[in-house]
Amino acid sequence: MRTTIAVVAAIAIVVPSRAADPTFRFQNNFWVNLHHVLRGEARRRTAQMATGVKADALTEAERVAWTSALDGYADNARRDLLFDDALRRITNALAVVANEVALDPMPAAIDDATSRALTRAAPIYRAHYWSAQRQLNDRWIAALQPLLAAHGSGMSAAIARTYRVEWPAAPIIVDAAAEAGPFGGYTIDGPDGTAAHTIIEASNPEYQGDMAFEMLFHEASHARAIGGRIIAAINAEAARQHVTAPRDLWHTVIFYTAGELARRELGKTGDAQYQAYAYRYGVYTRGWQPLRDALERDWQPYLDGRLGFDEALTALVRDTTR
Ligand SMILES: [Zn+2]
Repeated sequence: MRTTIAVVAAIAIVVPSRAADPTFRFQNNFWVNLHHVLRGEARRRTAQMATGVKADALTEAERVAWTSALDGYADNARRDLLFDDALRRITNALAVVANEVALDPMPAAIDDATSRALTRAAPIYRAHYWSAQRQLNDRWIAALQPLLAAHGSGMSAAIARTYRVEWPAAPIIVDAAAEAGPFGGYTIDGPDGTAAHTIIEASNPEYQGDMAFEMLFHEASHARAIGGRIIAAINAEAARQHVTAPRDLWHTVIFYTAGELARRELGKTGDAQYQAYAYRYGVYTRGWQPLRDALERDWQPYLDGRLGFDEALTALVRDTTR
C-alpha cells in the first residue's frame, strides 16, 4: 500500500503540465541567406527592378558567375516561398546544412540548377556580402534574447491558452535572413523534428525591437500545431452555421491575438504604450476593416476573459459572414 502511494506521488510530481517555454532555434545560416538573396535578385531582374546587392565591387569574372547563378534561379524566382512544395523543401534542406563552406553532401531536395547556382554564387556572396549580413543577423538575434528571457514563456503560454492548444515541444527554427519574401517574414512547415520554420529579415524596420517580439510570435502562430487549430475551429464553426468563413479570418485572428497578447505581456515590465503591429502598419486597412471590427467586438471580450471561446467564435463567424 505504501509502495503504491509512493508511486502515485512520484507520478504526480513527474507529470505537471508542461511549462510553455517557447523553443526557438535561432540560426544565422549562410545558405539560407544566399538562397533568399539569389531568389530575390532573380525576381527583381525579371521585373526590371533595382538590384538589392551592389555589384560595383565585383570583378568581371565574379559578375559573370553571379549572373549565371541568377540564371540558375530563374525557376525558383517564379515559385512562391510559402506555397511551392519544391521551394519549401529547398529552404528546409538548406536550413539544416552545417557546412558553411560547401554543400557537401548536396541535400537530396536540391535540384541541379539550384545546386549549381548556389555553388557558383557562394564564394562571391561570402567575399562581398556575408560578413556584413552575418553581423546584422547576429545583432537581430541578440536583441531578441532579453525580451524572450523576460516575456517568452508568458507570451507562449498566453497564445497556447487562447487557442486552447499545447505550445509545441519541438523547436521552431528561426532563420535571420537578408530577405524573406514580400512581407519580410514567413513561416512554413519545418524540417522533420521541428514544429515550424520561420524566416525573418534581420534589417527590416518592421521587425525591430518590441515589434520583433510580437512578430516572432505571430510567425510561430502559423505553426501547424497552433494556427492549424484555429483554422480548423473557424471552419468547423462556419460549417455549423452553414456559411463559408472569410478566407483571411484566421490570419486576422492571429494578427489580432499576437498583437494584443504582446501588448499585455510587454506592458508588464516596460512598454505600456505598445501598439500592435497590425494597427501600427495599417494591416487591417487593406480590406480587412470588417474583420478587424468583428475582432474588436467579438474576440476582444474572449481575450479579456469576459466571453468563452465557443461563444466568441460563434459571434466572430456570424458577424464576418452576414
Ligand atoms: Zn502571418
